[in-house]
Amino acid sequence: MADTAGRRISILGSTGSIGVNTLDVVEQLGGRDAFDVVAVTGNTNITLLAEQAKTCGARLAVTADEDCYHALKDALAGTGIEVAAGRQALIDAASRDVDCVMAAIVGTAGLEPTLAAARRGADIALANKECLVSAGDLFVKAVAEGGGRLIPVDSEHSAIFQSLEDDQHHAVERIVLTASGGPFRTWTREQMAGVTADIARAHPNWSMGLKISIGSASMFNKALEMIEAKHLFNVSPEQIEVIVHPQSVIHSMVGYRDGSILAQLGCPDMRTAIGYALTYPDRPKLDVERLDFAKLARLDFEAPDEQRFPALRLARTAMQRGGVQGAVMNAAEEMSFHAFCAGRIGFLQMADIAEQVMEDMAGYGAAATMDDVYAADSEARQRADALIARTGMAA
Ligand code: NAD
Ligand code: MG
Repeated sequence: MADTAGRRISILGSTGSIGVNTLDVVEQLGGRDAFDVVAVTGNTNITLLAEQAKTCGARLAVTADEDCYHALKDALAGTGIEVAAGRQALIDAASRDVDCVMAAIVGTAGLEPTLAAARRGADIALANKECLVSAGDLFVKAVAEGGGRLIPVDSEHSAIFQSLEDDQHHAVERIVLTASGGPFRTWTREQMAGVTADIARAHPNWSMGLKISIGSASMFNKALEMIEAKHLFNVSPEQIEVIVHPQSVIHSMVGYRDGSILAQLGCPDMRTAIGYALTYPDRPKLDVERLDFAKLARLDFEAPDEQRFPALRLARTAMQRGGVQGAVMNAAEEMSFHAFCAGRIGFLQMADIAEQVMEDMAGYGAAATMDDVYAADSEARQRADALIARTGMAA
């Protein structure tokens, strides 16, 4: 059992894929004896949220959806668990005094609550990469000013974090992000053109939420991760390399100026990265599958194909332009993801729409304040929406 007794945590997005895995890790490490869970939050899956709150002994349960307030209140009646609903309630929950906040809401909806937690000074176990893509420098600054630590949960970034040697940042030559290549790694653009969300969500190695699964198929997830890496590790876009590695065993690597490469390996299971983020710098015992090298037999690598997967090129453009361009790319990607899932546009049109919005907003500059980020995000959404309405019929 990890010696975390009394460590206060809140889990934003507890009902999602990362949230459920986080609660599994909490349970494995001793449950209530190991952690004091202050808040759990979800959206519309009230049955699961209420169940989780009771099991882990949370003091507060929050649904982001105001229409779900009464259902949650009823489900937790008599338990003494405080209940709240809506956007402000979510921000208030994130601002409660805790040692660590697991930031596992999906998409831009996670930005305000995670920022609130950072300002309050909690350590941030960051799964919500969209925070760093949209608000990069401002988000990192908010964490630093709050006084907490920023610990990545994304498997690639956890691997890099683990492979970075203290005081040797100056000796880092490159960051090598591995990518599984997703279900369409070997497909032609013609084959990808007609796929539905149900086909695109079937990831070969990882079991994850819908958005990140679709993002793995289009490689938009890797595009977001490139920008996430830039801000987390303070490297230049030129230092970030992507390599397709279909087995997802090497979770990412750091290349040093003496030619050494340090890597972190493991079976594809998010609980390792979650456990590390929750208990850093400890490595508690976790019941996850162990790598069997004899069974594995081989590790493959191939260069990513930016013709078939243009998202990677868009990430480089966003990083080179800087300022609000990450927010623009992220917002356009999120809108096109929803439109694809609703059957309004085709798979390949997601990148087309993101690229067009980025071109139309190429001149938008600095992200001096969060208001600049919110304004760029909102305009990119409107522009993407208009493009979706115009091009949607052709899908
Ligand atoms: P998911 O869709 O499974 O869960 C998302 C969570 O966010 C749920 O609790 C949901 O209720 C909540 N949520 C959804 N919309 C909301 C809203 N409008 N307001 C408040 N809460 C809302 O997503 P996931 O796969 O767990 O991913 C969560 C984050 O972690 C994403 O940013 C993703 O990129 C990142 N991540 C996930 C994985 C993975 O294995 N699933 C791996 C690395 C990084
Ligand atoms: Mg990842």
